[in-house]
Amino acid sequence: MGQPDLIFVNGDVYTVDAARRWARGVAVQGGRITAVGTDSDVRDLAGPATQVVDLMGGLLLPGFQDAHVHPVGGGLDRLQCDLHFLNTAADYVEAVGTYARSHPDVPWILGGGWAMDAFPGGTPSKELLDEVVPDRPVFLPNRDGHGGWVNSAALKIGGITRDTPDPGDGRIERDAQGEPSGTLHEGAMELVGRHAPIPDAEQMYAGLLEGQAYLHSLGVTGWQDAIVGAQSWGDNLEAYSRAARSGDLTGRVVGALWWDRHRGLEQVQDLIAQRREGGYGRFAPTSIKIMQDGVCENFTASVLEPYLDADGNATDNRGISFVEPELLKEAVTRLDREGFQVHFHALAERAVRESLDAVEAALATNGPSDRRHHLAHLQVIHPQDIPRFRELGAVANVQPLWAAHESQMDDLTIPFLGEPRWTWQYPFASLVRSGATLAMGSDWSVSTPNPLEEIHVAVNRQMPPDYLYQVDAHDTFIPDERLDLPTAIAAFTMGSAFVNHLDAVTGSVEVGKFADVVVVDRNLFAQATEEIASARVTRTYVEGEPVYAAGDA
Ligand SMILES: [Zn+2]
Repeated sequence: MGQPDLIFVNGDVYTVDAARRWARGVAVQGGRITAVGTDSDVRDLAGPATQVVDLMGGLLLPGFQDAHVHPVGGGLDRLQCDLHFLNTAADYVEAVGTYARSHPDVPWILGGGWAMDAFPGGTPSKELLDEVVPDRPVFLPNRDGHGGWVNSAALKIGGITRDTPDPGDGRIERDAQGEPSGTLHEGAMELVGRHAPIPDAEQMYAGLLEGQAYLHSLGVTGWQDAIVGAQSWGDNLEAYSRAARSGDLTGRVVGALWWDRHRGLEQVQDLIAQRREGGYGRFAPTSIKIMQDGVCENFTASVLEPYLDADGNATDNRGISFVEPELLKEAVTRLDREGFQVHFHALAERAVRESLDAVEAALATNGPSDRRHHLAHLQVIHPQDIPRFRELGAVANVQPLWAAHESQMDDLTIPFLGEPRWTWQYPFASLVRSGATLAMGSDWSVSTPNPLEEIHVAVNRQMPPDYLYQVDAHDTFIPDERLDLPTAIAAFTMGSAFVNHLDAVTGSVEVGKFADVVVVDRNLFAQATEEIASARVTRTYVEGEPVYAAGDA
């Protein structure tokens, strides 16, 4: 064995290896970890050609892996009119105006990422946009993608007037006089969106590379893209495939191919073809995304007992299960047999139960598989369903940033879920206690893709300090469901690696695994848990190659 290419010394190493949690040095050769030990163990291996990375008292971890993320859309947003990092209506208007002035030739102002709680009732007006962009259409989806903010020019192009009826799957926000006021909900967004230019192949590719670079800057070395191959908004499958073949893809990616809920089992042949043609190198489109329900804030998440109204009285609304439960069972059984993993969007308790029932049906028909089907979001789980994750081998794929008191939770969710259901939200510790495998992801660009902020909330069940502007009550959100730091880190490394079938080669710092590692500027274990989100990633490596170094950008 020759000299290592690279050694990491002079810091703490948290391995996420059950056999040995802590070390002080790591050696890398040919992209693989060749030694994990003390400083002197590792220094003794070094030769004249070995590069020495001084951790400077920081912490080396396995690279983070995001089990549910949309990096191409997030990257495109960053290249367009990006509102994600602003918080107030005034900031949004200023940013839109600045972007429009600096991009005089762009025919449409696109991008998005505004927060509902910056506007009264969550519905911004067209007048705010008309002031800064009178000449061109503006179409800006909000952070969760379930509502869009438009100006008068966009309403005109969409043909939306006071006489336009609401579409069956959406709503046009109107003022007291009945005029469209500038916010389009759910399916009504399409009235404008279908006229907006679809990003071409070059733009999608640029979006992917921008998204990847941003994820690497936050320590993310692998992920599952939660929607690939949905042609209606641009071809990210082609972008991944091209990046994998050209060598531009530095992250390890499993793609979740989009299940078209308006079609039936006949689409399986198309998905098989996409898997065969799209996969290469670090990119594997081997999962299928089935969106089983919507979100709580607009009552499209699928619940067992009806939502309450603003006065606390029961309504007759149980939300929407997008795929009929018997068809869901058939589809999952067939996909499982074809070797696909299923990645469910299952947000509220009826969708969760239907998704688990479908996994159970596949197991009963096909026998045990190693598909590692997983349910993402899991905002509300009926307590009786929690043990079923372990029983069925279904992975709980959670987005921890949402498990805190903030206005969307306190004003738009808790009153409408009611007692005791609101206390069933984000039951991370209950899942772990039941023996479930936990994976974590961000759902960027809905939320920040910063794993340290996500882990901060998983551990504290409070928003990170940067988000406190949107918090009224600084209470801990359902304190019994807090995780300890090792469990949260394991979920964001080994747990997500397990989902992506990469746990044998990544997810922990162990000899023989790929040197996909991240350096954080401090030991997270040596400080108060309230400080987790203050830590910063300083370096990120994939197979021992640097893909991010702080200060290089
Ligand atoms: Zn998502």
